[in-house]
Amino acid sequence: MNININNLLRENIKKLVPYSSARDEFKGEAAILLDANENAFGSPLASNYNRYPDPLQLKLKSKISQIKGVPTNSIFLGNGSDEAIDILFRAFCKPGIDNVIIVPPTYGMYEVSANINDIAIKRVNLTPAFQLNLEGIAEAIDEKTKIIFICSPNNPTGNSINRDDIETVLSNFNGLVIVDEAYINFSKQRSFIQELLEYNNLVVLQTLSKAWGLAGLRIGMAFASPEIIDIFNKIKPPYNINEASQILALEALENIDKVNNWIKETVKERELLDKMLLALPFVQQVYPSDANFLLMKASNPKDIYNYLVELGIIVRDRSSVILCENCLRITVGTPEENKELLAALQNYQKI
Ligand SMILES: *Cc1c(COP(=O)(O)O)cnc(C)c1O
Repeated sequence: MNININNLLRENIKKLVPYSSARDEFKGEAAILLDANENAFGSPLASNYNRYPDPLQLKLKSKISQIKGVPTNSIFLGNGSDEAIDILFRAFCKPGIDNVIIVPPTYGMYEVSANINDIAIKRVNLTPAFQLNLEGIAEAIDEKTKIIFICSPNNPTGNSINRDDIETVLSNFNGLVIVDEAYINFSKQRSFIQELLEYNNLVVLQTLSKAWGLAGLRIGMAFASPEIIDIFNKIKPPYNINEASQILALEALENIDKVNNWIKETVKERELLDKMLLALPFVQQVYPSDANFLLMKASNPKDIYNYLVELGIIVRDRSSVILCENCLRITVGTPEENKELLAALQNYQKI
């Protein structure tokens, strides 16, 4: 699949002259920096943050490039994945005219971001097995459809979307297909990053917020063709990843062994929690998960939710979400936290 990306772009973005920062205009080693109106004395802190950060985060990207096997010019870093999602709308979707397809139940941010940007949403629900309705998607696509969002492993259901189905969408759709892999580290499936060379309409989203344990630093990653990444860079705020986040993320990425051990432990705990939850009398179903959470169907989800809140344990009530009726979404915690959760649930209705 090789689509014409330029044709998909909004006219204002085609013509956009991006902001040129002081550090865009001078690159190299300088002894005295008097070009950006910074405070030359330093910061009133133990470390200095008085200089503007690298707008393209090249040190951090080259480390990510090593880990992911993707060249740095195919990587965009955003202030969370949410920034990448918002930029997709602003680059490719004309407000009040274009539309995008989402496949509920799925991550809520696609719809919020569409609403903020005044972009119509077409919903093609997943099947009861939480897989793509390919016929429904084909019927929903019209000439104004610019983007299809697919989350795999999916939030809130936890399952991976069939690979062949995603490839079918990629090969037949003349717009962008976003594969959101926020939970890929916990999955048996391999990432769609390997498919970037084959499909120039593919954008893979990942994040440092989940497995990497850096939600507070706000670093989301988009992987796509250099042509699409250039568009992201043109639109983003010049200094969208702050210096402290760049430094700390680079340091964190050196500790891949620690993260891999957490992933193994989380998957082990997930399987244990799955069995133990299913044994509870009021639990009807625990859905298979490739993520760091479980979706559980119970006879009385709201009551269980409130009971847990009383005990200081917070889970996510998804019972009003389509196809997730009577469901709670439970993040896998530390072994101690999971034990406490189970103990609480085993006492439910006995008191
Ligand atoms: C948590 C999550 C993200 C991550 O968002 P950040 O803004 O990077 O923290 C992205 N997509 C899905 C589906 C998620 O659940």
